[in-house]
Amino acid sequence: MFNEYTSKRQKMVETQLIPRGIKDPRVIEAMRKVPRHLFLDEALWPEAYEDHPVPIGEKQTISQPFIVAIMTEALQLKGREKILEVGTGSGYQAAILAELADQVYSIERLPSIAKRARKILDQLKYSNIVITIGDGTLGWKEHSPYDGIIVTAASPYAPNTLLEQLTIGGRLIIPLGDEFTQDLTLYIKETKDNYNKESYGGCRFVKLIGEKGWKE
Ligand code: SAM
Repeated sequence: MFNEYTSKRQKMVETQLIPRGIKDPRVIEAMRKVPRHLFLDEALWPEAYEDHPVPIGEKQTISQPFIVAIMTEALQLKGREKILEVGTGSGYQAAILAELADQVYSIERLPSIAKRARKILDQLKYSNIVITIGDGTLGWKEHSPYDGIIVTAASPYAPNTLLEQLTIGGRLIIPLGDEFTQDLTLYIKETKDNYNKESYGGCRFVKLIGEKGWKE
């Protein structure tokens, strides 16, 4: 259905993503398609396509559109991948991943947030996203190994549990730093014990709280 949000979404892509270097046509297409406002409370719909994170309750946020795009692009998805997301939040990033990969597993520590995400993802008929409630710093061994892992909360270091659950050639994108500022860091698993590391620039996320993250 075409509405005012459809044109806001196209403008978001044209003004916030393409000029800042997002190039992957599949990522651009997914960002043009997924109705980001529906992942927010209706009172916040007018802010949905602005260039900043937006609150989703319980002191958590939906990430800024550019951050969603750059983290997704870093995974270099072709369509057949199995992906793990740590930090389901609103469910929006999971929907973008589900457009671009075969299967998405997503872990959220807060039950009320996970429930809300599931509801909207069901309404939008995303049948290739499985959500569980738990500590994502431990990964989700049962479905591993993953071709890509995306951590959407700030971590002091890259948990070894997540690195271990990557395929050879798999990619982990994670914001690393302190609680105020982080560096988006990409790990590419070259062999069982060797990782190539690249920086994707500064960002600011809420804290990853768990056994291999921050303590509450
Ligand atoms: N990807 C989300 C989206 O598209 O809306 C944004 C995620 S929000 C910035 C970070 C989320 O990570 C919060 O919902 C928070 O509860 C969750 N979180 C923090 N620590 C976690 C952990 N150890 N395991 C799973 N989720 C965690």
